[in-house]
Amino acid sequence: MQAIIVDHVGGPEVMSLVERPKLASPGPGQVIVRNHFAGVNYIDTYFRSGLYATQLPATLGNEASGVVSEVGPGVTEVQVGDHVAYLANQNAYSQYATTAANRLVKLGSHMPLETAAAVLLQGLTAHTLVTRAYAVQPGDWVLVHAGAGGTGRLLIQLCRHLGANVITTVSSKEKAQIAHAAGAHHAILYTQASVPDTVHKIVPEGVHAVFDGVGKETFEGSLQSLRLEGSMVSFGNSSGAVPPVGLFELSSKNLKLLRPRLYGYLHTVDDHHRHATEVLRLTEEKVIDVHIFKTYDLKDAAQAHADLEGRKTVGKLLLRIPQ
Ligand code: NDP
Repeated sequence: MQAIIVDHVGGPEVMSLVERPKLASPGPGQVIVRNHFAGVNYIDTYFRSGLYATQLPATLGNEASGVVSEVGPGVTEVQVGDHVAYLANQNAYSQYATTAANRLVKLGSHMPLETAAAVLLQGLTAHTLVTRAYAVQPGDWVLVHAGAGGTGRLLIQLCRHLGANVITTVSSKEKAQIAHAAGAHHAILYTQASVPDTVHKIVPEGVHAVFDGVGKETFEGSLQSLRLEGSMVSFGNSSGAVPPVGLFELSSKNLKLLRPRLYGYLHTVDDHHRHATEVLRLTEEKVIDVHIFKTYDLKDAAQAHADLEGRKTVGKLLLRIPQ
């Protein structure tokens, strides 16, 4: 089977398409999925670059959709031929993957495999952030960074659905249009204007919460944009990791600071199932409207990484897995 692997960390050029041996039969509670689409997520670039540690050589990829091709002993959740999506454990950029049956998201006939791969990880991220990291309330003011990106667009849509007023940041006028179309009330070109100054012009007391997946370059401005008792949700590092924070930075406004990881909200099978069911329902009802920027062939995965890191993309990037 074909897969994209990295045997040392670095830029997109370290990714290569290789032939790998056929997978062993699935163990108890496991299935093998023939992947059709893999989602490209910023986290994949961290494992490739070495920002997040992984054992090398590693296959990349944390989300896929496909068709169950083999089930292990004791599996009752799915059958061969079922369409599924799942959060992969570094094995999505691959023709086949072994995964736990009880974590599969079974797809109805009306849910295209492409859409499921595009919405699962970023949808779960956005949904857990707005319901559990900071429970967005009607009338809240929120700041969502990188609002034209995959996760940012979905955060805007969910915050609007929950009745919040949304300010977002983007790096270009074209991206501002995308963010407005997703529902943002205000879009700040953070490459040109000061974020906290602009936020305080829009809402003088500051925002109730910031959802910040950009990290290093936006962290300080995010704290400055918050109101008294505001919540800082720092969930990513697309511009680099946030340096260590002095606790006293939070005391002047009694701020709350959270650094959540999606998997921490999906610890139990029940939590995983509940959030995934909700994300698919919201997608079917078009509350979440995923925008697929481009579907790349598996062999072009390095180009997908380069485009994502080069800030050339909006919405979601997918890989089409050869069948
Ligand atoms: P995006 O589609 O949002 O792409 C990243 C965006 O970040 C870019 O499009 C760009 O938008 C913005 N950006 C700002 N500064 C930079 C920079 N210096 N270099 C590159 N991009 C920059 O990616 P994802 O939706 O996949 O992920 C968004 C964030 O969410 C990531 O930090 C990711 O790690 C995090 N995440 C965290 C999870 C968790 O469990 N904590 C789970 C899922 C995602 P612009 O051009 O408008 O600035």
